[in-house]
Amino acid sequence: MHGSTQHGTSTHAATDAAIAVEDASLAHNYHPLPVVVASAEGAWVTDVEGRRYLDCLAAYSAVNFGHGNPRLLEAARAQLDRVTLTSRAFHNDRLGPFAEELAALLGKEMVLPMNTGAEAVESGIKLARAWGYRVKGVRPGAAKIIVANGNFHGRTTTIISFSDDEEARADFGPYTPGFVSVPYGDADALEAAIDDDTVAVLLEPIQGEAGVVVPPVEYLPRVRQVTRDRNVLFIADEIQSGLGRTGVTVSCDLVDVVPDLYLLGKALGGGIVPVSAVVGDRDVLGVLRPGEHGSTFGGNPLAAAVGLEVVRMLASGEYQERASRLGARLRTGLEALIGHGVTEVRGAGLWMGIDIDPAVGSGRQVCERLMERGVLAKDTHGSTIRLAPPIVISEDEIDDLVDTLVSAIDDLR
Ligand SMILES: *Cc1c(COP(=O)(O)O)cnc(C)c1O
Repeated sequence: MHGSTQHGTSTHAATDAAIAVEDASLAHNYHPLPVVVASAEGAWVTDVEGRRYLDCLAAYSAVNFGHGNPRLLEAARAQLDRVTLTSRAFHNDRLGPFAEELAALLGKEMVLPMNTGAEAVESGIKLARAWGYRVKGVRPGAAKIIVANGNFHGRTTTIISFSDDEEARADFGPYTPGFVSVPYGDADALEAAIDDDTVAVLLEPIQGEAGVVVPPVEYLPRVRQVTRDRNVLFIADEIQSGLGRTGVTVSCDLVDVVPDLYLLGKALGGGIVPVSAVVGDRDVLGVLRPGEHGSTFGGNPLAAAVGLEVVRMLASGEYQERASRLGARLRTGLEALIGHGVTEVRGAGLWMGIDIDPAVGSGRQVCERLMERGVLAKDTHGSTIRLAPPIVISEDEIDDLVDTLVSAIDDLR
């Protein structure tokens, strides 16, 4: 790519020094690529050596609208000067408009604001259980939630309790009971797992961490039908798939499915602050009573001001249209690589999972070659790399990205 300094031949002193400091004093719960970002703008980041990289991870889709998006920065700056934190012990004048417009964007009635994605998932689980006991009439303590194999919903002890990723789970027990996992994409298996104690089905409409796994087109409509018929809530975790990434507002829109609860996070905070939310109707969100659930930072005025601007940007539809159009271009470019070091390409909008032929190398090796060429991307599950550039990326940059991937794969062959 056209970085300002040639990659590979330049110095690494500042990078090595920064990484040494991190290694000495940070818990080693990540294995980052050896690049130290110092600044960013739009789809590009610049490292401490002055090298530029096209950011094709976009903080796992938290930076959908680009780094330093002027509209979002302006909303944040204006709010910084007014008030940033009140707690929910008092009202604040940003939270109401944020909740009203976010609910309207998704055609729902109510919003429960939180901070991180994992908190939105935890809130959805608590809501489903309370709804099950108070509305559906499930036996006390028996509520059951159905999830899918290969899921990723976050890192809390309850959430990892229903993960099948041993790395994420081992040595963190005892685990929270009340979850049943079925194969992803198999509506018959899901239906067979429902019984009188089932309160909810919790799914990613497209599984992100699993490698951008898109289910068969009839799957989500059937899940919707079955959950409606059996009086079970359908909770869609749109934390990574939502908010423009797949060329629509939420990826359930791709198959015209409306779940009972949407879980949102990541891009809802515009890449500036952590903002998450559960969005649904009064029949479910209305079960919560004062004192039963909360968060010190959830719904704070700074978060609400940024989240409101994100909602308004999505309301115009321009980001969804752009992700759809540029995503089609990216997909065409990537599909031409099948048989040339790539075995499969999956995705929707500007979100692609690419399986690298194991004979060529690992996902990590490809990501290292991409980094040397000025592209940042992340591998998952050994042989898959995931591309999710900021939606502000240009058509020329998409073409350069595909060329760079070809070069990175050729370097390994
Ligand atoms: C990232 C993610 C989460 C967790 O979000 P955090 O903000 O990291 O807690 C939950 N669900 C999905 C689908 C995600 O991609």
